[in-house]
Amino acid sequence: MSQANPSLCTVCNHHPAFYRREYEGVTLCKSCFKASVERKVRRTISHWKMFTPNDHVAVAVSGGKDSLALLMILKKLTTRFPRTRLTAVTVDEGIAGYREEAVEIASDYCRQLGVDHEIVSFKDIYGYGLDDFLRQKRERMTACSYCGVFRRKAINLGAKKISATKIATAHNLDDVLQTYLLNLLQGDVERFVRFSPVLQDPRGQFLTRVKPLCEIPEREVVLYGYTEGLRFQTASCPYMTEALRNELRTIFNRLEIAHPGVLFSAYQAMLKLRKLAEPGVPPSNLQSCRSCGEPTPGLICEACRMVGVTPERLEVPA
Ligand code: SF4
Ligand code: ZN
Ligand code: ZN
Repeated sequence: MSQANPSLCTVCNHHPAFYRREYEGVTLCKSCFKASVERKVRRTISHWKMFTPNDHVAVAVSGGKDSLALLMILKKLTTRFPRTRLTAVTVDEGIAGYREEAVEIASDYCRQLGVDHEIVSFKDIYGYGLDDFLRQKRERMTACSYCGVFRRKAINLGAKKISATKIATAHNLDDVLQTYLLNLLQGDVERFVRFSPVLQDPRGQFLTRVKPLCEIPEREVVLYGYTEGLRFQTASCPYMTEALRNELRTIFNRLEIAHPGVLFSAYQAMLKLRKLAEPGVPPSNLQSCRSCGEPTPGLICEACRMVGVTPERLEVPA
């Protein structure tokens, strides 16, 4: 029996080896690697029934590696579905010296790919960018706590503005696992149980959010971007403070190197746990925020509360 040549791709047995995927025990050439990532995303989309052929998908594109890779993969996958439309939605948070470059990179790729691009800014929606907002805030919440809530609403509003039917975000396998564990470690059992690759409002009132990259490890998303020659923003946000998430990232990286495949088994276990725990958690009763109409479990959404809208008077204090 002839021995496989270790310097060749184990799939096509023809092109030079480019990447060793330890968790599957295969060595891939560049083109087999790209094809396998695209195939995995296609499988995730069909397994979770993320899209229908008539969807207009708002792709949240920050200008970072994951979102550009997502846009590129979705663009390739949707060429077979002429009725599916993609529009990139970029949020400009108003972070001086950081977001401008990312917005420019996102715009460039949208032009190259022939994808419409909608930019929504904190300033237009909330009246000020993140820098200005933080300057006048006294509470000791982190920038990311405000920003995350504002961004979510901004993406919803951008998607609504273009009449999208779905929102796709670029969370990869590592992100998903970090979020699962963060929810668990912070004791937020309901969020832990509700977290899913597809977040759907049972009453169909709010846009469904999907995560097509949720089964692709972060390092493969980066590598995919590299094989496609993607230029993405490398600078980190000056407010980046998510200490616990960063610690989890380091732990997961270490575990995956020592025990290839451990991320996937953790992901599968979490999906099973979620299914088991779901009947014990009351369904999320999302309603429209009395002030802005965005989804919220209470009367007023978090974003409105953060800018000072009070449930009693539904007014922004002067
Ligand atoms: Fe916003 Fe935090 Fe991300 Fe910076 S790191 S863009 S503040 S969520
Ligand atoms: Zn190959
Ligand atoms: Zn609101």
